[in-house]
Amino acid sequence: MSKMEREKNFGRRFEGKVALVTASTQGIGFAIAERLGLEGASVIISSRKQKNVDEAVEQLKARGIKAIGVVCHVSNAQQRKNLIDRSIQRYGKIDVVVSNAAVNPSVETILETEEAILDKLWETNVKSSILLLKDAVPHMPKGSSIIFISSMSAFLPQPSLTMYGVTKTALVGLTKALALEMAPDIRVNCVAPGTVPTHFASYLTTNNDVKVAIEGLTLLKRLGTTEEIAAATAFLASDDASYITGETLVVSGGMPSRL
Ligand code: NAP
Repeated sequence: MSKMEREKNFGRRFEGKVALVTASTQGIGFAIAERLGLEGASVIISSRKQKNVDEAVEQLKARGIKAIGVVCHVSNAQQRKNLIDRSIQRYGKIDVVVSNAAVNPSVETILETEEAILDKLWETNVKSSILLLKDAVPHMPKGSSIIFISSMSAFLPQPSLTMYGVTKTALVGLTKALALEMAPDIRVNCVAPGTVPTHFASYLTTNNDVKVAIEGLTLLKRLGTTEEIAAATAFLASDDASYITGETLVVSGGMPSRL
């Protein structure tokens, strides 16, 4: 089914809702913002570079989506605060937060990874998500929803992604623990994507041998799409998932993960 045919079947589950997605000017984050917006949400997108933010906002608006963009490097406290302040000034509340930003600055083995890189992995992939939520949660009404974007590598360590994978395992634990603390007012869930061709994953997906090997690990014998990750995220963020909290949904075409 083509992208356009799929979109004809979208509902309007986020009418009147406000959704904030970090690292959302391209790739999976952009697809999530687009999906939530096409289903009626007013979206706030962000990333490190003003030019990327401006271009992504224009793309969303061209699709009829209500969108604002704010520069936010997730590790920068002032920029995180500004992101939430601007969102509240514009929309007055936040119903959905999707914490999507992550880095993988090293392909070293865990014991060869420098301390500064270990700190950066923790800081960007885990700590900044928590700090952003400290600012956001006071503005999230009862019935709101938080989604962390983890990775298949949280469950299945892969060469060149091992320590990154450990930070993604931490997000699975954070999902469970925060769901306990936020209940019953706010649901907290997590999406663990398999391999999706994006800039982030290009060092894997543009090498044909590696790509074929990854496809071979999936039951569906292909890589995923950003739209498929967005669809799963939208489900968990919506009232269709109103009895689901503390869970991680693996969206990987059936890669080995867990029972
Ligand atoms: P991507 O296509 O490369 O997009 C990355 C986005 O993040 C860009 O909009 C970039 O814009 C922004 N960004 C980068 N560093 C940032 C920072 N420190 N603060 C704020 N924004 C930042 O990446 P992706 O593949 O969609 O990855 C998104 C998420 O999916 C990540 O959490 C990743 O771990 C996860 N994931 C991806 C895959 C995959 O195969 N692609 C698989 C599993 C999980 P600027 O350059 O303007 O900042």
